[in-house]
Amino acid sequence: MPDTVPPDLLARLGEALGPAGLVTDPALMAAALTDWRGLYHGRALALARPADTDELSAVARACHAARVKMVPQGGNTGMSGGGVPREAGDELLVSLSRMRAIGAIDPDGMTVTVGAGAVLAELQQAAADAGFLFPLSLGSQGSAQIGGLLSTNAGGNHTLRYGNARDLCLGIEVVLADGTVLPMLRALRKDNTGYALRQIFIGAEGTLGFISRATLRVFPGLSSRTVLFAALPSVEAALALLRRFRAEDEAALQAFEYLAGSAVEMACALLDGVSLPLGTRAPHYCLVELGSPRRDAGLVELAESVLAAALEEGTVLDATIAASGSQAAQLWRLREEIPEAQRRAGPGVKNDVAVPIPRIPALLARGIAACQALMPGVRAIPFGHLGDGNIHFNFVAPEGMDAALFEPHAEALMHAVNDVVRELGGSFSAEHGIGRLKTAMLAEWRAGPELDTMRRIKAALDPHGLMNPGKVLG
Ligand SMILES: Cc1cc2nc3c(=O)[nH]c(=O)nc-3n(C[C@H](O)[C@H](O)[C@H](O)COP(=O)(O)OP(=O)(O)OC[C@H]3O[C@@H](n4cnc5c(N)ncnc54)[C@H](O)[C@@H]3O)c2cc1C
Repeated sequence: MPDTVPPDLLARLGEALGPAGLVTDPALMAAALTDWRGLYHGRALALARPADTDELSAVARACHAARVKMVPQGGNTGMSGGGVPREAGDELLVSLSRMRAIGAIDPDGMTVTVGAGAVLAELQQAAADAGFLFPLSLGSQGSAQIGGLLSTNAGGNHTLRYGNARDLCLGIEVVLADGTVLPMLRALRKDNTGYALRQIFIGAEGTLGFISRATLRVFPGLSSRTVLFAALPSVEAALALLRRFRAEDEAALQAFEYLAGSAVEMACALLDGVSLPLGTRAPHYCLVELGSPRRDAGLVELAESVLAAALEEGTVLDATIAASGSQAAQLWRLREEIPEAQRRAGPGVKNDVAVPIPRIPALLARGIAACQALMPGVRAIPFGHLGDGNIHFNFVAPEGMDAALFEPHAEALMHAVNDVVRELGGSFSAEHGIGRLKTAMLAEWRAGPELDTMRRIKAALDPHGLMNPGKVLG
């Protein structure tokens, strides 16, 4: 145990949490010490697993008294390494996974209150069982937890229609670094009582406190749903198709996803059971989801009429409308598993960027040209939430290049994309946050009064720097 840590701390935590609540065996902690992308391999004093807010507060009080640093962890699916401790081994990892209660849906208020450790897929199912929709949806939903989703202000596939995690949250309960509980678990649509404190903790990636519970919005369940997949000649054509759907029925538009032809081909080549759902190969594709609480919403007719007009105009080359739920799931699988295909294809870089929607064609053209000039043969596989201006602008090493050759150039490729993003007025981190990976970029991009204000907020809420050190602000 590092000599900065009081020797009786673990005994005190053990007393507060009981045997199920404290893990010290390195073998049992191992999975929680490496992030999903395998970028970071940390060490921890122990893994605390509080069962409720009182236990979490007791953990924070004990660590605060001993000046021991704490790292909150949810499902450990974060893309920026924010949820794993650093290498020194003097930080306490705190998993919220036992705090997973999902309350009853309030059908009039259209809210649900859940523990931070509730897994997204379980909450979606609970909402569906009650005839409602919890619309947050992303590839990691089988593991990602509400606390992690709020702490990263996750976006995902349906942001276009319902907003990101922040927009779905009415209230939260927070445990500060010194154990103080902030009881802000209110289910109010209107509450202009001073500063909107909850918004500071949402998206803070665990650097300001623990989110322990949340009151979230639910929506009417969708009685009809239609998913289509279209082949397109250009990125501009994707924008034209988005415009058409918006003009026809914006409320029905649930998701509008972009897939580069190269990303689709990589997924089809490397993933079992994934194939191109169309006869036409194209340089660009879109996946569009329409939905409505109304049974007779006429979504197939809407899709057909928009596609017919776009086909005639030449902005769509070919398209298919899923004829069943399983076909729709198969189309979504093609989109969702591009990150897995990328992982199998070899070493690469991920850029989670956003620009104003009309600038997406320029982003893609200029970003690809810049990276190919740096590394001839590098494979661009951009995809993502075009309807939100958010592209996962990822690259894979040229065929046959191994990690040792590629890695030294990875940062230059990220910077090449980010230079274009900056020129286009965009963000270098649209939905994956800062974590440990992008602290230097945050310091550079937000330098000046914005970063100073963030540091002052951090110092006010966590004066001893105990919450998730080395993340976000570095
Ligand atoms: C296949 C795949 C697809 C993905 N797709 C998307 C996507 O479309 N959109 C998107 O936004 N993200 C996506 N992600 C990223 C990831 O799933 C999200 O960032 C998610 O919100 C992380 O939740 P988690 O519970 O796994 O959090 P973790 O990874 O455990 O933690 C993330 C951050 O939140 C902090 N944290 C966790 N719980 C708490 C808490 N209770 N209180 C305070 N801080 C906390 C951690 O310290 C860390 O900084 C994807 C990831 C994968 C693996």
